[in-house]
Amino acid sequence: MSERSKNRFAGKTVVITGGAAGIGRTTSLAFATEGARVVILDIQGPAAQETLSMIKEAGSVGHFYQTDVSKSDQVERAFDAIRADVGPYDILFNHAGTIIVKPLHDSSEEDYDRLMDINVRSAFLVCRRALPEMVANGGGSVVITASIASELGYALEALYCMSKGAVLQLARTIAVEYREQGIRCNAVCPGFVKTAHGLREIAELDDAGQTWEDGELAATQGRICEPEEVAAAVTFLASDDASFVNGHALYVDNGWYTKG
Ligand code: NAD
Repeated sequence: MSERSKNRFAGKTVVITGGAAGIGRTTSLAFATEGARVVILDIQGPAAQETLSMIKEAGSVGHFYQTDVSKSDQVERAFDAIRADVGPYDILFNHAGTIIVKPLHDSSEEDYDRLMDINVRSAFLVCRRALPEMVANGGGSVVITASIASELGYALEALYCMSKGAVLQLARTIAVEYREQGIRCNAVCPGFVKTAHGLREIAELDDAGQTWEDGELAATQGRICEPEEVAAAVTFLASDDASFVNGHALYVDNGWYTKG
């Protein structure tokens, strides 16, 4: 790694939703290691406090605001606090999300509302609030966590696929709408990643009769993806190394999407 790429975020501040655990935690640490001040919005208090300690150990500064990002009043309160305590920010990683594994015909309206609220409404609320503040600060970079399920269909994941298609389109729209105001926006689209989310998804699909542990994972993406491999893609997209990359869906899936 070059000296330049080791410190790409010195003097920068990044806001990360879902930064307490999993890919969000790993990405928080990746940003911190390269000099960023990291602001985490998450529902999980104890996990976030652990992540803050790790950020400190990495030599940087972290902040945590306990926030359910699917709730507009909580999002507004958190960003008001960021403005008061931290000041302007340069990067937004909109990552918080979850999954429901279920046949479409068994999915309730409550399931629909829950997944759309956590995965889609949250991205709308957070980006709606952050973009004008980033523009006023001279621009910046947004990365949205989409999925391989943004553009491909998966059995038992109808609500999830719908929600991830929506946030990929949000990323593309932001890229187009805010480009002249100094904002780049890209999506990261992982396959299965070794986190609580990814491991639960594999277990639930296998319980329902699929065979991810017993061969599908090897046949599609070769092996499970490590959170660090997603974090590397996110920090690339967020950094000036990607200065002319805008509106892109970066698949982190070892060729699965291309193979089909
Ligand atoms: P994870 O479950 O380990 O972490 C998710 C984080 O989001 C947690 O810290 C959780 O507390 C937080 N969160 C959940 N709901 C929230 C809310 N309403 N408000 C604030 N924070 C909330 O999972 P992960 O795999 O690290 O990340 C999940 C994200 O990654 C989702 O957007 C998911 O669609 C995406 N993704 C994951 C995989 C995978 O295989 N793990 C693959 C593709 C995409």
